[in-house]
Amino acid sequence: MLIGGLQKFTMLDYPGKIAATVFTAGCNFRCPYCHNSDIVDPKLIDYENVIKEREIFDFLKLRKGSLDGVCITGGEPTLQTGLMKFIRKIKSMGFLIKLDTNASHSNVVENLIREDLIDYWAVDIKTKPEKYKIMTKKDDVVKNVERSISLISESRSDLELRTTVVPGYVTSDDFDKIIEWINSINSEIFSKLYRYSIQNFKPEKTLHLGLGEVAPYQEEYLREIENKVKEYCDYVIVVE
Ligand code: SF4
Repeated sequence: MLIGGLQKFTMLDYPGKIAATVFTAGCNFRCPYCHNSDIVDPKLIDYENVIKEREIFDFLKLRKGSLDGVCITGGEPTLQTGLMKFIRKIKSMGFLIKLDTNASHSNVVENLIREDLIDYWAVDIKTKPEKYKIMTKKDDVVKNVERSISLISESRSDLELRTTVVPGYVTSDDFDKIIEWINSINSEIFSKLYRYSIQNFKPEKTLHLGLGEVAPYQEEYLREIENKVKEYCDYVIVVE
């Protein structure tokens, strides 16, 4: 495991739970809006100061009873060698696990489900399938994303889908396609979702520096998108 950061307390990352958040370093995507360039771009990762797994376990031992769970985010956690072992250990200490993922490694997702290691999945829906390559700079990931979502939707765990709405990359019209796409993966997903999060783009500290000049969508436009998703999903949040 390459661990680039630890947030020792959060009431925001894991819905309804008090948690700590572990940030894994490295990602196979290059989303232009990403705010985590220091753990995504290999040239910027501070290899001298990565956190050892032992430090995480020692910290968690002291937080038994005061934290409900641990969020594992990135970067992209499913790239990490040793992820299964790391999660097994944390679960054995009695913590719930929330995993944030771009869903591109469906084999890892499958293995995590097989061992029932994840309590809450937060899966990124980057944009409509036709634009995935433009958004992520990665070929041929859509099939894997579909497979991951299908597997998770059949599991017992909670599932949240999240889309960051970046002008030019995700439009209100794109949401018609996104909804159609998700329904084609599993027609019951929307009724089973814990929630759908629509996150407004923030132009600060972006991986693609040119996006710093782009203005986020106005509230009215976000409400238009929210209303589209609400036709299918009871619980939609807009994060501005
Ligand atoms: S937004 Fe997520 S998937 Fe995209 S580059 Fe950043 S960490 Fe990777």
